[in-house]
Amino acid sequence: MKFLKKPLALFIAFSLLFINCKSGAKVVGDKLKKPLNIILMIGDGMGLAQISAASFINGGLSLDLLTTLGLINTSSANNYITDSAAGATAYSTGQKSYNGAIGVGVDSVSLITILEMAEKNNLATGIVTTCSITHATPACFYAHQPSRTMDKAIANDFYGKGIDLAIGGGKPYFDMEKLKADGYTIATGPNFNWQTNASKYFYFYDDSLHLPSLAQGRGDFLLNATKKAMGTLNNNKKGFFLMVEGSQIDWGGHDNNFDYVVQETIDFDKAIKAAIDFAKADGNTLVIITADHETAGLALNKGSLKNKTIEHSFATGSHSGIMVPIYAFGPGSHLFAGTMHNTKVFDHMKFLFGF
Ligand code: MG
Ligand code: ZN
Repeated sequence: MKFLKKPLALFIAFSLLFINCKSGAKVVGDKLKKPLNIILMIGDGMGLAQISAASFINGGLSLDLLTTLGLINTSSANNYITDSAAGATAYSTGQKSYNGAIGVGVDSVSLITILEMAEKNNLATGIVTTCSITHATPACFYAHQPSRTMDKAIANDFYGKGIDLAIGGGKPYFDMEKLKADGYTIATGPNFNWQTNASKYFYFYDDSLHLPSLAQGRGDFLLNATKKAMGTLNNNKKGFFLMVEGSQIDWGGHDNNFDYVVQETIDFDKAIKAAIDFAKADGNTLVIITADHETAGLALNKGSLKNKTIEHSFATGSHSGIMVPIYAFGPGSHLFAGTMHNTKVFDHMKFLFGF
C-alpha cells in the first residue's frame, strides 16, 4: 500500500496542476508565464545545412546554445515549395496562402496580422530587415496586396498603421512627406543618430532600394539595428512585437554562393545573440528564431575538421521543401517544440500575447 501511495499522490498533484492549463501549455507555478514582448526572427532561406555550415565555420553559433527546438513544415496553400511571401503570410496571419501573397488569403482578401493585432492592443511594433521594407518577408506583417511585386502599393499600406519603428531599405518606394505626416523621424545613413525623444522612427540604410551584403560592407548594421529596435520599443511598458529578418541568406542561396550564405547566417546569429541577451536580462521577452523555407538544397558533402572547411553542393537555384528548424527562448518557448506547420507560429504568438 505504502508503495502505491506516493505515485498516486504525485499523479493527483500533477493532474490538479494541469487542470488550469489551456492549449496544452506548460504550467509554471500555478499559471502559464506569458511574455510581454515577442521578437520573431526570420532567417530567409536558413535551413539546417545553412546553420550547420555557419556553426562549423564560425566555431559555434549562439543558436547552438538554445534548448527548445522544433521543425516547421513550410509548404504554402498552392505549392509544396513556398516562396517568402506565402511563408511570411503564414507566420504573420496564421493562414497558408498562395505563393506571392502579401498578407492576404487564398481569396486575396486581407487577413489581420500579428503586428496589426499588437498595434490594436497598444503594444509597440517594429520591423528590422536587411532588404527593402517592402520586400516579401517584412511586407507580410503590415501590407495586404495580391502580389509581392507591388512594392509601391505595399509601401502605401505602411502609412497610418502606427508602426513605431522600421529599419531597412526601400527608400525610393516611400513618400517622405507621408511618413512625416505620420509622425516619423526619418534618418538615412550609416549611423543610428536619431533623436531619442521622437515617437516613431523610419531608418533607411541609404537612398537605394536594397542593402549591400556583408561582403559588400554592410558591417554590423543588422546587429546595431536589432539593438536599437529593442531599446526603443521597450519604452512601451505594455510590451512590443518586433520582426527581425536576415534577408540575404536566401540571396546567397539563389546565387549558389556558399560564402555569401555562411557570412549572412553568421551575421544573423549576431543579432540573435543580442535578442537572447536582451530576453535573458528582461525576463518577459520571447525570442523565436526560424526560417520561411530552405534555399538552394544546400548539401554539406565533405569537410576538414582541421581546416574548418566544407565541400558543398547546391541541388537548385530555388527554394527546397525540407522542414526548417525553429528555436525559441523565453516565456512560452516550450510551445515551439515539436513538428508543426508554419501557421502554428502565429497561433502560438496570438495565444501568448492574449489577443
Ligand atoms: Mg525575405
Ligand atoms: Zn528566395
